Amino acid sequence: MKILVQKFGGTSLSTAEARAHVIEHIQDALNQDYKPVVVVSAMGRKGEPYATDTLLEWAASNGNALPPRERDMLLVCGELISAATLCSLLNGHGIPATVLTGAQAGIRTNADFGNAQIHSIDPVRIIEGIEEGKVVIVAGFQGQTEEGDFTTLGRGGSDTSATALGAALHAEMVDIFTDVSGILTADPRIVADAKPLPIVSYVEICNMAHLGAKVIHPRAVEVAMHAGIPVRVRSTFSKDPGTLVTHPSVLKSGPGAVHDRFVTGIAHVAGVSQIRVTPQEGSFDLQLSVFKAMAQERISVDFINVNPSGVVYTVFDHEADRAAKKLEELGLSPQITPNCAKVSVIGGGMNGVPGIMAHIVEALTKEDISILQSADSNTTIWVLVEEHDMAKAVRALHKQFELHR
Ligand code: ADP
Ligand code: ASP
Ligand code: MG
Repeated sequence: MKILVQKFGGTSLSTAEARAHVIEHIQDALNQDYKPVVVVSAMGRKGEPYATDTLLEWAASNGNALPPRERDMLLVCGELISAATLCSLLNGHGIPATVLTGAQAGIRTNADFGNAQIHSIDPVRIIEGIEEGKVVIVAGFQGQTEEGDFTTLGRGGSDTSATALGAALHAEMVDIFTDVSGILTADPRIVADAKPLPIVSYVEICNMAHLGAKVIHPRAVEVAMHAGIPVRVRSTFSKDPGTLVTHPSVLKSGPGAVHDRFVTGIAHVAGVSQIRVTPQEGSFDLQLSVFKAMAQERISVDFINVNPSGVVYTVFDHEADRAAKKLEELGLSPQITPNCAKVSVIGGGMNGVPGIMAHIVEALTKEDISILQSADSNTTIWVLVEEHDMAKAVRALHKQFELHR
């Protein structure tokens, strides 16, 4: 069976015009003899009637006290409404279609409500639907525990539903349809001349996604990489092929082959606080006690620098107060710098290439942007800047590495 998983994001389903494009893409797949399995997100973005953010605001304005399990019950409704809407439209167009919830599609997860992990998929009902000649629409972002409770997979989780179903169904390809023309060298909302990348490796895009490029969820890429299923990230609003995400071997020989790319793209994450802790007189094991305390509080830390004069790291702004309180309880005096942003230069080919950091410093200095902290790995250099400098920094680095060419 030639299965194609087609995932449509929130903005791809939010207007009648967008939904007409969605139907066209499904029809195209049928014309190419694919059996399409369609995964949908909740329609629209913040403020629109059934969007996930709107449902969250609804809960907040009605007591703001939903326990995680019941919060997931509310959130799954967004994707169900979206799936039923598309089902109605497809049937109205003479394309037989049926809807399955995540649970009915056989997606079993752990009970980590709000951020559940898929542990198995039994897609028997999807196969039955296909054998009945129907387009099977699966509500994304959701699964079910062994006990039968609804779960959600974390924000942006419909991408993971799509690649996980692709793996379980041995699909030929997973298409992630969205509101941009593919994976670009930077977020087009910040860099107007960001360029679409025709082909990237799983690892490159996984890095970019982890570092803030929210065009695809990093877990979705990991699942696809593990299963060896190619993914295309493409626009709902055109027929362009978008970006192919695949193994480096294909990347080096396939169409649009890329060889000497030092830098692939620039990513950014806002809403970060820097925490600096210096050792008090007579204090021992500063690093150990700081990170143990953060682990106990379940605060995720990033950008960690440990040196003889103390410890510097970052947390998300919304966790900074809790982190500071915990450190003060230990008798420490943390210095907090809120409203920072992490800007990352990513490239599988930068390993061992001299001068990349010099380029970064040059680009940021020219724009009078101070670097609060920096770190690097084989494939990434990060800098921490103040949030009001973030967009300027992304644009300056994009230009410095001539990514618009
Ligand atoms: P969907 O609702 O389709 O899942 P998302 O909002 O999750 O869409 O992701 C698409 C958005 O990701 C784009 O509108 C774009 O602003 C943003 N984005 C961030 N970084 C990148 C990048 N490097 N390439 C493309 N889009 C990016
Ligand atoms: N609707 C969910 C969210 O907004 C899942 C998704 O869009 O992938 O996070
Ligand atoms: Mg998304």
